[in-house]
Amino acid sequence: MVTSRDWSVYVHVPFCEVRCPYCHFACFVNQDPDFPLRYVRAVERELDFHSGRLDSARIVSLYFGGGTPTALSAPARKELCRWLGEELRPRFAPEAEFTLEANPESLDPRVLDDWLEAGLNRLSIGIQTMHPKVLEFLGRRSTPASNLRALDLACQRVDNVSADLIVASPLDDWTGLLRSIDAITSHPVSHISAYLLEIHADTRFGREVAQGLWQPSPNDQQADLYLRLVQELADRGFHAYELSNFAQPGRESRHNGRYWTRDPYLGLGPSAHSFDGAHRWWNHRDAHRWCESVEAGTLPVEGREHLDRRAVRRERILLGLRRDEGIPEAWVEDRSRLVDDYLRAGLLERVGPRLRATPEGWLLLDEVVLRLCD
Ligand code: SF4
Repeated sequence: MVTSRDWSVYVHVPFCEVRCPYCHFACFVNQDPDFPLRYVRAVERELDFHSGRLDSARIVSLYFGGGTPTALSAPARKELCRWLGEELRPRFAPEAEFTLEANPESLDPRVLDDWLEAGLNRLSIGIQTMHPKVLEFLGRRSTPASNLRALDLACQRVDNVSADLIVASPLDDWTGLLRSIDAITSHPVSHISAYLLEIHADTRFGREVAQGLWQPSPNDQQADLYLRLVQELADRGFHAYELSNFAQPGRESRHNGRYWTRDPYLGLGPSAHSFDGAHRWWNHRDAHRWCESVEAGTLPVEGREHLDRRAVRRERILLGLRRDEGIPEAWVEDRSRLVDDYLRAGLLERVGPRLRATPEGWLLLDEVVLRLCD
């Protein structure tokens, strides 16, 4: 049973071996061999700042994301895994979910052994695509062969494996996407996350598109690929429990699920966000600034916000409609005419006393929610 004493912990690992041209996450290619260990010691110290909050709490989920957690140097990884086993694992709830994000090219048996010993029980692998030309376009260092090797290794050693896909890059078509789905689902993975390629202005792709060097896929092609993907994965036993996440029954991500139900979580590391049920705060994005702040004994917090009633309502509706569970219709009873319009247009559907977005509605969710909350 989930209680208010239950917390999730997210740890952001900012290191990557290369910078992917579409990436807008807080990560960098580190050149300082001493920094990864310094970073790990700062993560350990940052948790101590929150000991009052966590001492009487249970950790129900732990998630290492990035960045590329599997790209940590061996000394840093060993220290992190020692700390996890000694300090965090004793605070785990019995059924705690412990996920690690991994890139195929940096996943090897020695890396996996260390994390498994620390309590890892779920692995999320950044496959992205099995199409060699699309991998190249996305600037990934993996190949179809290294993707397959990583899936083989992960599925041999870990019971709960998720694969990430990037959908609708300009070189993508249904045949290529189907090839990726075939390769992934021929392994015993239990979960797939699929994200439409987003172009952010502050990335290499963003600059190239602004210069007119190439164009993103047209919206109708992206929509077509997404809707076919939702149906194909459903046919293969992976239901869309959230607009980008597909799972076999009972294998939904518990950690991400707690973000969507607004349960408390603590973020450690640069750029990590935290939420205590009423307030949200986030750490310095720059890894060195975050580290220096922790080493100086000060909270590395860059900003905070308190959500007023209106913001909470908007967030609940948005997060609810992202999930297949939807929201109680009573939450938007003051917008009944608009709801009827969306029902007629096939963007929402009624399931008993609840409303949920259809896959077509998920494609337009920001606009739907904006108007419902206006
Ligand atoms: S591996 Fe992931 S986090 Fe690192 S640069 Fe690529 S997309 Fe960004």
